[in-house]
Amino acid sequence: MNKVAQVYEGKAKKVFSTEDPELLIVSYKDDATAFNGLKKGQIEGKGIINNRMSNILMDMLNKAGIPTHLVQELNERETLVRKVEIVPLEVIIRNIAAGSFAKRYGVTEGSPLKAPTLEFSYKNDDLGDPLINSYHVIALGLATQEEIDTIRDLAFRVNDELKRFWLSRGVTLVDFKIEFGRLADGTIILADEISPDTCRLWDSKTGNKLDKDRFRRDLGGVEEAYQEVMRRIESQV
Ligand code: ADP
Ligand code: UDP
Repeated sequence: MNKVAQVYEGKAKKVFSTEDPELLIVSYKDDATAFNGLKKGQIEGKGIINNRMSNILMDMLNKAGIPTHLVQELNERETLVRKVEIVPLEVIIRNIAAGSFAKRYGVTEGSPLKAPTLEFSYKNDDLGDPLINSYHVIALGLATQEEIDTIRDLAFRVNDELKRFWLSRGVTLVDFKIEFGRLADGTIILADEISPDTCRLWDSKTGNKLDKDRFRRDLGGVEEAYQEVMRRIESQV
């Protein structure tokens, strides 16, 4: 399958149409942004790691019965995916308090939560991806109640699978963001990516951060963290 035209360039990926109207090619860049694009930089080799890691994780989720957009990895930065209409929600699942949740509710970062939580942000850069509840989602026509129910159920299943996957590799899954989309027949599937850009991953023994927080918070060792987390995966694939 070949790229026909670039249809979108985002902060971390480019998206291309193909000869098949139902398929897209995504190409992962090394560009990194944080704080709604205010902080910009490059993480060398990130695109290669995120492409590979996202595909390994989506393949694992597919096998666990969770439908994803993954079709086939084409090369080290590019993957063929099923085209969806993205539901404009960032679906965030948390197991441990961190980041904006810890700040918003005055909880110490690292406090385990009594139960995993789910929240939605409205995927809208101009508005700064504001927190949104399911009533707002329905009122704005972003998704139906049935779609919200499907997304919630799938998101918690993704959490169970990812938590188990990472735990066996000595990594604690703190929280993550995923996106869902609709196929032409309305079926909801997992899309976008799962990577250290979109997950908080802490070394289970040392608590070391192995994700994009190293870039966001100027902690140094950014490239090394991405490589380390990839090494943890490859040692067992
Ligand atoms: P952003 O748009 O936030 O800057 P990216 O740089 O990752 O993010 O761009 C990739 C874009 O492609 C995102 O807007 C994402 O929602 C969208 N996308 C991901 N997977 C699919 C898919 N299977 N079909 C259509 N769009 C997708
Ligand atoms: N996240 C993401 N994209 C975003 C916002 C958040 O991938 O635009 C991920 C982030 O990596 C973390 C989780 O979602 O794993 C929760 O992030 P949080 O709401 O705490 O936001 P942050 O502190 O990053 O602003």
